[in-house]
Amino acid sequence: MLQINKLNAQVEDKQILHDLSLNIKAGEVHAIMGPNGSGKSTLGNVLTGRDGYEVLSGDIEFNGKNLLDMGIEERAREGMFLAFQYPVEIPGVSNMEFLKAAVDARRKHQGLEELSSFDFMKLARETSKQVSLDPSFLKRGVNEGFSGGEKKRNEIMQMMLLEPSLCILDETDSGLDIDALQVVATGVNAMRSSDRGFIVVTHYQRLLDYIVPDFVHVLAGGKIVKSGDKELARELEAKGYGWLESEVA
Ligand code: ADP
Ligand code: MG
Ligand code: MG
Repeated sequence: MLQINKLNAQVEDKQILHDLSLNIKAGEVHAIMGPNGSGKSTLGNVLTGRDGYEVLSGDIEFNGKNLLDMGIEERAREGMFLAFQYPVEIPGVSNMEFLKAAVDARRKHQGLEELSSFDFMKLARETSKQVSLDPSFLKRGVNEGFSGGEKKRNEIMQMMLLEPSLCILDETDSGLDIDALQVVATGVNAMRSSDRGFIVVTHYQRLLDYIVPDFVHVLAGGKIVKSGDKELARELEAKGYGWLESEVA
């Protein structure tokens, strides 16, 4: 589904990612851990095509297409989803309108018919209940006055509605209480399927008790320095990242 080959990327004239390679097959969940500032968020931003993140060399194939040829909207239509990409408030645009526009664009790209407002409303209400978000949130401005936990539940709702092919969750667990964490994890687990991949960026092993990854990678200094299975996350929790530096050296 996603093949990243020797990716070098920079932000603000500073190279952050160095020869990063990663392969994700449909159906797999990959956790990415690593110290602060190691480039985890940069990777998500490069994949979604965010402005200011410049690829210097390397290539990325997504669903058999050259990702680097696609613009940000095209990547989203193709099924790339970065959660917590829109933490900003968009007053004046209701959450419902925002979600419907995104879902319409994705469905159109998939050759599906646009949902009627009535059907979309019904689907959105059902989905909001699955993430324990009161349906009244659909009428509010995008993220307007949402608490941290509500924003994240809202993003999971968006992900469930969009049915992306690759879901990237960046620090889903930061600032979440245990109930919200479980809602997020339950939503993600419900979406795991043989035709969908996940990249879960997290600082803490705790999230990985709920979202059990197939692979765990450590990103340090813009490179993947170690890969393993879920046991690697436990080892990191116990030992920190310092031991890896000596191992890499
Ligand atoms: P992580 O998510 O692993 O904590 P980031 O990808 O956020 O790391 O950051 C990696 C490095 O890139 C940091 O040194 C950070 O300061 C820098 N960086 C990221 N985004 C920007 C930006 N928009 N402008 C300048 N520097 C940035
Ligand atoms: Mg960080
Ligand atoms: Mg980050």
